[in-house]
Amino acid sequence: MIIADGQPESKENCTIAEWVQAETAGIVEEILQRLTPAVRQAMTTLEAIETGTQALTQSIGRHITESLMSAPVLDSLGICRECASPLRSVDSHRARGLIGIFGQYDWERPYLVCPQGHGSEAPQDRVLQLGPGQVSPKLAAILARVAIDVPFDQVPDVVAQTLGVVIDGEMVRRVTEKIGSWAESQEQTTIRDVQSGQAPVPPAPGPSTLLIALDGAMVNTKRTRDGHRGWHEGKVGVCARFEPIPRLLSAEKNEEAKPEYGPVEYCIGFERQADFLSRLYTHALQTGLEDPSCCQLVLIGDGAHWIWELSAKYLRVAGKTWVEILDFYHASQHIWAVAHAVWPDDAAIRTDWAEKLLHRLRHEGGAVLDAVWKALPPLSAAAQDTVTGEQAYFAFHQDRLDYPRYLLAGFPIGSGIIESACKTVLKQRESGSGMRWVEAGAQAVATLRALQRSGHWQAFWRKAPWAQLVPLSRRIAA
Ligand SMILES: [Zn+2]
Repeated sequence: MIIADGQPESKENCTIAEWVQAETAGIVEEILQRLTPAVRQAMTTLEAIETGTQALTQSIGRHITESLMSAPVLDSLGICRECASPLRSVDSHRARGLIGIFGQYDWERPYLVCPQGHGSEAPQDRVLQLGPGQVSPKLAAILARVAIDVPFDQVPDVVAQTLGVVIDGEMVRRVTEKIGSWAESQEQTTIRDVQSGQAPVPPAPGPSTLLIALDGAMVNTKRTRDGHRGWHEGKVGVCARFEPIPRLLSAEKNEEAKPEYGPVEYCIGFERQADFLSRLYTHALQTGLEDPSCCQLVLIGDGAHWIWELSAKYLRVAGKTWVEILDFYHASQHIWAVAHAVWPDDAAIRTDWAEKLLHRLRHEGGAVLDAVWKALPPLSAAAQDTVTGEQAYFAFHQDRLDYPRYLLAGFPIGSGIIESACKTVLKQRESGSGMRWVEAGAQAVATLRALQRSGHWQAFWRKAPWAQLVPLSRRIAA
């Protein structure tokens, strides 16, 4: 099952589990005895048995669910939350329908109004914690879980194949975006709490070093808050603690460390850079930014100026070592840009030059570059433009290019699993060809993906997000 990890250990669930254990054998025996010989004969292969049994359990599940939902559970009709008048019944059998994990449910329940005109509701919907309707909370959780990994219009097929339930892609999108928007509003509340001095619960003491990796991916948007259409940068932050294993100077291969990372915390935001860093700061705190056991902060990012101009202000903590590293992968792309500008037509020379230089950059650091620039052959005007631009790039990052020192210290330099995760956590779902997003929808899905990849999916569903999404106007009864 896709959300088998999502079960809260509630008292009700234990009661139900005990009853099921005690009674299932008897119930199943009864069902088997009632199967007609024709049905028994048709169930010859395991596939036929599973298909038939799935249809049976769907049907039984739907009947039991509808019956239990229709059960009268109200002692009184309740009162209006606004004026405290007793609510009046306008319809004792108002029909309602939604789709759940056993298919379409149709049932009836009493419908009440406030005599003073403060609104109407079916209190039983609130007792059942139906959420905003359309689908049941459990189905909503499944749809959202699938939809953060595959495009919305592919989810109906997965759900039909597994649950045997028919839904459409547009419903998947609405449900997922609603849940994601609620998750994002929770995230913003946490960020504001942190800004007003309410620190989150600090993590347990852990490894000495916190890696913070920053990256971005372009997402195609058709509507954004600032009215800007087209490609829009989603910023991705990754935080993880690790224990560096310093390398020996004499080590033959000065390979990049592959440290064992503790729990990885992701965040994604489409907001302004400074606002994103407030978000990242909140996640870094949860990973131990200010924990006394964490004494080194290592920041890895690409060339974007804002990262280096703002990160220290938001993330640097007094008394802790602060290390900035230009992601080696991005640095190498810029070396290749120079190579292509200087030798546009000679692939052999170009490749030889770039590979040798990258090797030296890794083992000797950015100090080698000055002599390399001086040794370049005469350049065309266009090539000179490119080279000048790239020289300025490396000059800006000259203090973040000391790769041999980082490798010796046991720091990653940017081609490891964390950094590539930085790209994939957003890109794989939102930068696919032909994908176009409304910004709020892109953020909603990104927030859900980040919290799932960070291992917070279960904790998130324990907050019953779907039930929380009922519009306030419909919660009139006290
Ligand atoms: Zn009222």
